[in-house]
Amino acid sequence: MSPMATRNPYQLGVSLPNASPFFPTVREWRYATDFEGGFRFIEAKATQAGEKVETQNEYTFNEVATQLLGLVEPIRLMSAQELEEQGLGAGWGIREDLEPSEVVEFLNRFGQIALGDYLRRAQLQRPYTLDKGELTPEQALSILGIRQRYLSKLKKTFKEEPSKWRLMIRKIQSGDLIPFVWIEKDLLDLARCVRILLTLDRNYKDGENYWSLPTNYSRKRRRFLVASELVFVPRGKDEEYRELESFWIVDERKIQAEWQKFAFNLNRFLTPITFNAVRREIGNDNLQKSLGIETWLAYEILKSRASLADKRCEREKCQRQFVGERSTKRYCSDTCSGIERNERKRERDRKKNSSGKSQKKKKAKGKKTNAKT
Ligand SMILES: [Zn+2]
Repeated sequence: MSPMATRNPYQLGVSLPNASPFFPTVREWRYATDFEGGFRFIEAKATQAGEKVETQNEYTFNEVATQLLGLVEPIRLMSAQELEEQGLGAGWGIREDLEPSEVVEFLNRFGQIALGDYLRRAQLQRPYTLDKGELTPEQALSILGIRQRYLSKLKKTFKEEPSKWRLMIRKIQSGDLIPFVWIEKDLLDLARCVRILLTLDRNYKDGENYWSLPTNYSRKRRRFLVASELVFVPRGKDEEYRELESFWIVDERKIQAEWQKFAFNLNRFLTPITFNAVRREIGNDNLQKSLGIETWLAYEILKSRASLADKRCEREKCQRQFVGERSTKRYCSDTCSGIERNERKRERDRKKNSSGKSQKKKKAKGKKTNAKT
């Protein structure tokens, strides 16, 4: 029915339900906080019963995947200077925080995220307590990603403004308000899933797709280690980065666990499709309202027979990862190809004037980049 780990520890068998073509929902989200900054969320105008929501079908899979990989950078190895400043030993990684305004801009343009995990949303509905399932402040802390030190503020609202409390919970249940921790988690997990899928070998057997990872030490396996964030490399570097040779030797159990997590997340993202394939009682309006880029991207990669290739932008200063459909595509964006074009033109002009000088300059520049890493 959906991705699962098969007998071979590093094979992913996939058989998807035949979903009718669908696109991610786009709504106008805005970022806000409550409980004196303790609760971060995004909110959209509530939809009326039967109201059609807009969908995003303007951007292709490649464009959305590329933008996603640009928004969510993988954990990178901290530089020697950063380590010294933090008083840490070698080998620490760091993940840049997601900037809420950038996230909202991304979601409003390419499609929402984080409403497809039905189990997570159901946590708010489960009758926890004897008074018929009212979510208590204590329970809200972990589900909504609020820090312990804000508990007293939550308790105050719960006690003194019960209608405000219930309205907030109702909005989350109906998908008009999404806790920011859910957004962050799903963006990180989705970017990781996309990166991993791009590193795996796609195979076909009896018309079914399956993906596999080489079990032996290879370049392919190193790509997987970076994509799954089991190994960190400095920003802009890839599996060719061999500075710390011992980093590439990763415990097989850790890889196995990461593989399970990867399959789990794919299933999680596909919930609206797989769930609705068996249970039709959820209306189509409700289904569309929960569809986001996570379901769309995961489904598109898994069902598509098109060969997807990930690349790194060839512009030295950018080196961003992107998804290219054409094998000749060399730059991540029009901006980068434009800059490179101008650069090459300037270089040609310089050569025209004095060919010897420009050669020397080029050499010096190359040295500097090597030394920096
Ligand atoms: Zn670029």
